Amino acid sequence: MKRQTLILLVCLLSLPVMAQQVDRSLLIKPERTNYTETSTYKDVMDFTKAVIKDSKYVSQISMGTSLEGKDIPVFVLANPKIETAAQAKASGKPIIYIQGNIHSGEVEGKEVVQILMRDILMGDKSYLLDNQIILFVPIYNTDSNDKMEAGRRPSQEGSPIETGIRSNSQGWDLNRDGMKLETIESRGLIQNIIVPWDPTLFVDLHTTNGTWHGYSVTWAPSYHTAGEKAPYDFTWDKILPEVTEKALEKHDVHLGPYGYYYTRREGWPIKSIYTYNHHPRYLVNQFGLRNRMAILSEAFAHERLYQRINSTYAFVSEILEFTNKNGDEMLEINAKAEQDAINLVKEQGGKIQKGVRFEMVALDEPVPAYRTYNHMETTNERGQKSFLRKPEIIELKDIVNHSAFEATKTATLPKGYIIPKEFANIAEHLKRHGVQVTELTNNKRASGEVFTATNLERANRPFEKHKMATIEGSYAAANKRFGKGDFWVDMAQPLANLIFYLLEPESDDGLVNWNFFDEHFDSNGIAEKPVDYPIFKYFEIK
Ligand SMILES: [Zn+2]
Repeated sequence: MKRQTLILLVCLLSLPVMAQQVDRSLLIKPERTNYTETSTYKDVMDFTKAVIKDSKYVSQISMGTSLEGKDIPVFVLANPKIETAAQAKASGKPIIYIQGNIHSGEVEGKEVVQILMRDILMGDKSYLLDNQIILFVPIYNTDSNDKMEAGRRPSQEGSPIETGIRSNSQGWDLNRDGMKLETIESRGLIQNIIVPWDPTLFVDLHTTNGTWHGYSVTWAPSYHTAGEKAPYDFTWDKILPEVTEKALEKHDVHLGPYGYYYTRREGWPIKSIYTYNHHPRYLVNQFGLRNRMAILSEAFAHERLYQRINSTYAFVSEILEFTNKNGDEMLEINAKAEQDAINLVKEQGGKIQKGVRFEMVALDEPVPAYRTYNHMETTNERGQKSFLRKPEIIELKDIVNHSAFEATKTATLPKGYIIPKEFANIAEHLKRHGVQVTELTNNKRASGEVFTATNLERANRPFEKHKMATIEGSYAAANKRFGKGDFWVDMAQPLANLIFYLLEPESDDGLVNWNFFDEHFDSNGIAEKPVDYPIFKYFEIK
């Protein structure tokens, strides 16, 4: 780009009141269409190509290729420029991963990532690269983005007019695939980006579906289940409050806690809000099991596209302001969490219990002033009580916040697992997640526990093309001999908490649930008699 154009653009971006000519190739699709249209895949590729053309701070890498043959681009922004994960690691800087368009109908994340790239690479925000490396993924769900049609997202009220499809082109929801990794996109994300680059913070940009709360964006951290507490605590106690305050102060945008409420259950005014759930199939939650921080961003669906872009921009840019200042502390917290997870296995493996199933509970602290649209009680045509929304936003005092999870079932944390060689697919699956798995070359004797399932139940209705399985049974002490070709998973490794959640047979989001062991249980006659779970959990190995 010419120097003059650059100066012009810098002026335009930093002083929005100035009416200046700007090259149309440097406008995103909503800006060119009065916010009636969202970017197609080609729009994103053309725009990002124009924005990165003359920049010395960006390199473009690939997450993978979609089913329909589209490259999923990842833009690495860094000063000095970084091209590989090894260089990123050597730099010692925190890596912030920001992703738009996981659900193609939820479009503003995709647009905001493009605007931020423009502001950092060509505008006045290059200082955001002083202390951090940013991985921008504007369009994660590439294929479904372009299958646009009006009316797909009723709560967005036609703004933009047409949007793409929620699931990927294989028909799976990319935000339920975190554990089973069935999609091309999840495998690309985990294997090509998350494992090698190891982001310090993962940010996933969405749009809500329903509740008429009074926030322009709602947020949630990675819920800690069987994970370490410190990364969650820092996100909840430090990042989210500061970013919320700055968004209001600098952008006049209200951010608040993610949650639904139910007038039918509680009447009006409501007393409580409820978050979504803790399962690590959601990418944000899975980051907790990886000892890393994560943030879910949910723009308020009922606002117009230009407002949602504005508020998501306020949120993400303030996250980047925060991480630019506090990234070193975040790296330390994550590293300590990782070490704590390893130490716990080494010191307490075989002795302590950790949660494998969880239920939602209220936090001790209520939301002191919860913003919401007001409602009025009335009676409908059938004589039933109903609650109609009023146009004004009010604040309700001390709303109980169901935003924590407690274990309802626990299992002993082992020192490791042994996977018989017949279950090489399980070993492969763990490796896909970045788990270190060793193939045994000589015999080992292990003492620990074997789980015997007495019952396997499958859901009647499919979810994500799975009739999810749950097994019940019990553990008993056992000794076993393993040999050449079997797989050894030592839990004294960074992903201990993820391994535990994937492999524990009674886990509520593990490989048993996702039918990885159905064939084993069925062919061994689980319908008639108890069947052992084939993965052995050891407390000692020789
Ligand atoms: Zn979503």
